[in-house]
Amino acid sequence: MAKKQFKTESKKLMDLMINSIYTNKEIFLRELISNASDAIDKLYYKSLTDDSISVKKKDFEINLSIDKDNRILTITDNGIGMTKDELENNLGTIAKSGSLEFKTENEHKKNIDIIGQFGVGFYSAFMVASNIKVTSRAFGSDEAYVWESSGIDGYTIEKGELDTNGTKIELTIKEDKEEEIYDELLHDHFIESLVKKYSNYITYPIKLNGSKDSLNDMVPLWKRSKNSIKEEDYNTFYKDKFNDYTDPARVIHTSAEGLVSFNSLLFIPTNAPFDFYTKNYEKGLQLYSNGVLIMDKCDKLLPDYYSFVKGVVDSPDLSLNISREMLQQDKTLGIIAKNIETKIHKELLDMIENDRSKYEEFFKNFGMQIKFGIYNEFGINKDKLKDLLIFTSSKDMKQYTLKEYKERMKEDQKAIYYVCGETNEKIDVLPIVEQFKDKDYEVLYCTNYMDEFVMSTLQKYDDVDIKNIDKASTDLSTEEETKELEKKNEESKDMFKVMKEAISDVSTVRFTNKLKNHPVCLSSEGEITIEMEKVINAMPTDNHIDAAKVLEINENHKIADKLKHLYETDKEALKDYTKILYAQARLIEGLPIDNPTEITNLICNVISDEKED
Ligand code: ADP
Repeated sequence: MAKKQFKTESKKLMDLMINSIYTNKEIFLRELISNASDAIDKLYYKSLTDDSISVKKKDFEINLSIDKDNRILTITDNGIGMTKDELENNLGTIAKSGSLEFKTENEHKKNIDIIGQFGVGFYSAFMVASNIKVTSRAFGSDEAYVWESSGIDGYTIEKGELDTNGTKIELTIKEDKEEEIYDELLHDHFIESLVKKYSNYITYPIKLNGSKDSLNDMVPLWKRSKNSIKEEDYNTFYKDKFNDYTDPARVIHTSAEGLVSFNSLLFIPTNAPFDFYTKNYEKGLQLYSNGVLIMDKCDKLLPDYYSFVKGVVDSPDLSLNISREMLQQDKTLGIIAKNIETKIHKELLDMIENDRSKYEEFFKNFGMQIKFGIYNEFGINKDKLKDLLIFTSSKDMKQYTLKEYKERMKEDQKAIYYVCGETNEKIDVLPIVEQFKDKDYEVLYCTNYMDEFVMSTLQKYDDVDIKNIDKASTDLSTEEETKELEKKNEESKDMFKVMKEAISDVSTVRFTNKLKNHPVCLSSEGEITIEMEKVINAMPTDNHIDAAKVLEINENHKIADKLKHLYETDKEALKDYTKILYAQARLIEGLPIDNPTEITNLICNVISDEKED
């Protein structure tokens, strides 16, 4: 019979599998058992929603058998099976996941999502098998078909025989080769240990060589008592079910009784999935009703700001026949969601308290989501989330919460101070930071583009104002000093008027006592800060905003005298100097200079003149 070719992606994947790191080889069994369990889930679910189908849960099982002489390991299930087309589509191409198809087919019936595992799945069997034969009979059909392949060069499909609905997978186990040992896959005790290690939580019995007893406990992990579960069990379960390759940062396993009873097993991942910050990412938890999967990603169970959480919720109080839309409005679900949110929040706070370096790692990956949660929906959730923020502090460049900042504020300190910039190092040398350091006031360094929006949404932490030190209004002067300064500004107001003529995009020019050693700084007045201007103008839209900028000049710096002198003697030179100072202030703030040629020429003139002096 003519061989059919695999699709290109499948070939690539298969190649990867066949030549994959040998130490991974045992995961193939978990993958095949998982598929078998899914196939049974599908049939069971169908029977629950269609009265014409009568199947009994107790009849479902997954059988393994070993034929040592012929080196064949067989995995059989009595699940939903596959038609000829399905065999071809599901096993002939990898890009089109059968699970995904099941989902869309049923979406219009407002039914369920079933596990759309993304991963290598079935093909992993090529790591250990030189030939794979899949015989399958779809539920409701009396014809069986055989799909067979020895790897890259293609597969065949022909008619076959199978007594009942379901799927039988026969693997011809590879011969041992130097360091690569395959023989152990033909030993009962080894297979038994693999099932216990990777598939213990599968809810259908897994039996070996016709034995009456099942190898697995069948109680799903989330329904088992916590003290019977090892950390490794949780980690394996998580990685297998949610396709992650790193252990989770935290596991939250709870069972609740009361108004609504439910078990939940939640995971806070260590790393963000590759699509986490794209619109393709779907949040949600797997929802079970008494061990039966009713929805793969129930988004109502998680608020957006905790969308990174993975896990399983199982409640006997949910009806199986409930439609997707009704489920979304279900009160029970609302109660569970609330409970879960509290648990996650507590866990994150505990991590901050007791496992700071892990939290910092977590925050690097998911902090943006929490920040987004703060300013999204006009800040409605800000109070819930404010204690989850961490920022780098001028104190020691380590990260702290707002609570920690507040607790060690100086007695005379009136506000929580922050400043935005590109990197901590760049912020640390900003002229405006100096006076805060002098007073031993801590400043939080905000390097994420969202930070400015987060801080202006928060406005306060408890009763303490949160202030951007980049704002012209943020000032540490005493009343007296302020009065003194106002006087000086008043005296020089005509000079400032001339200076402003040279820099028309600046709204105010004035003296300041914010600066110690530096000559100038740029701040903003009004709602829009310089950082917001940078962020919004960097977006690929036509929206363009300008902060109302204030050029502040250090009254105690010798440049102040120079300017006053020029005002008396040479107004044109005053304008040139102003332009240079303004360009300097923009550079320090990380803003572009629109007229670099003019500025560099001006600087050159000044330098040349000095030489002549
Ligand atoms: P995944 O399970 O991630 O979708 P696989 O490559 O493991 O990917 O399987 C591809 C598809 O083949 C499955 O989605 C399923 O539709 C089908 N399939 C695999 N094994 C079985 C089985 N034992 N019974 C029925 N269908 C199966």
